[in-house]
Amino acid sequence: MELFSKEILINILFILLPLLSLPIFYLLKYIYQIEKLKDSLFMIISMVSIVLCMLSPFQIADGVLWDLRRIPFILGLLYVDRKKGMILLSFLLIVRYFIGDILGFYMTVCTFVGMAIIINLIKRFYVRAPLVHKLGISGLLVLVSIQFTFLGASIITDVNLDPLVWLHYLLINFVGILIATLFIEVIKMNSELLEKLVKAEKLEVVSHLAASISHEVRNPLTTCKGFLQLSQNEDIPPEVKSYIGTAIQELDRASEIINDYLTFAKPAPGELEKIFICKEVQQVVNILTPLANMNEIKLLVNVAHREESYIWGDRRKLEQSLINIIKNGIESMPNGGNLEIQTTYADPHVFIKIRDEGEGMTQKQISRLGEPYFTTKENGTGLGMMVSYSLIKGMGGQINVDSEVGNWTTFSIEFPLAEQ
Ligand code: ADP
Ligand code: MG
Repeated sequence: MELFSKEILINILFILLPLLSLPIFYLLKYIYQIEKLKDSLFMIISMVSIVLCMLSPFQIADGVLWDLRRIPFILGLLYVDRKKGMILLSFLLIVRYFIGDILGFYMTVCTFVGMAIIINLIKRFYVRAPLVHKLGISGLLVLVSIQFTFLGASIITDVNLDPLVWLHYLLINFVGILIATLFIEVIKMNSELLEKLVKAEKLEVVSHLAASISHEVRNPLTTCKGFLQLSQNEDIPPEVKSYIGTAIQELDRASEIINDYLTFAKPAPGELEKIFICKEVQQVVNILTPLANMNEIKLLVNVAHREESYIWGDRRKLEQSLINIIKNGIESMPNGGNLEIQTTYADPHVFIKIRDEGEGMTQKQISRLGEPYFTTKENGTGLGMMVSYSLIKGMGGQINVDSEVGNWTTFSIEFPLAEQ
């Protein structure tokens, strides 16, 4: 076997070529907003590569034909969800069955089912791992998988491979999977960057707009509402009363929108001061307790008082961002429940944890949090989170969100502690 034989290069081409079409589809998906396509896309690309590789095997010893199908298989399983992973595995086994050679088929079943189990176990770490670790993991997986197959082959048949040829085969698989992993990661990064860019641009437009209007609009709204409420008490026909009711409701909604971003839109930049975190959290809890009570929600507050728990920031902005987050927590539990608010310390940071037992969010929804106008509520503004995110980031903080659909959501906000 030559290191760069035509067949091997063709196999590698069959893996890289479909991957190259990925950015085109991502772009299409972005332009036409086809979410479903993106989810299945990677599975289909892996399937195409697998079939192409299987149809063009190369000889590594007399009568021993192998190919690089394990590369798209491993990558496919690493990047698609569990259900699609199962489809991919079944697909590979079915195609393999029709190729013939029942002994080889059983060997494929053992190896690839084994690999699928291993990959499913480590996938959770893989998704979150940095690029270098990802390369290491995929490289290692391909080597382990080949050893598996080789072990099986040497038990069933009496293949006698030249060690040098064997080394070549390992090397080609290893380099192949590294290149393919790099490809995928770069493509993914590019498409995420594009989405972030669009998001940032939208955000800028909104914040300029907000700064110029929110203060100006607030006072006339309050005045209108006052007069409408007064005239509702007059002796007027019932249908006019109901019109006035609707008008008041609409005014309330308008001031809700402004409330969501009022602090954020303060034209002058907020003063930086040392804020005593425990006091601010308690203050926010006091503000929201009536709302919680009204919705039959129990606020479980666990704010550890500690002398040195100061952060640098703007008091009103901190309050506003916490209010927006806690309000969402309350709104996510229409039938009541518990909402935990907790502060903890891990020097030099303070963490504010807000956990509700509400409807939760999907991964996709979490990734859209902070985007202007993103809302799943009928009367939502989709501004609360945007404001909270930019205020918290502006004060040097970070937000992490974890959630389980139908069960709970946890917002964990982290601030660097101010030096004494
Ligand atoms: P709004 O509350 O007006 O919809 P937000 O920006 O405050 O706008 O929130 C955006 C969306 O994020 C909400 O519509 C909801 O789908 C989701 N969300 C935010 N917080 C939670 C939470 N604690 N539980 C479930 N969904 C949430
Ligand atoms: Mg909200």
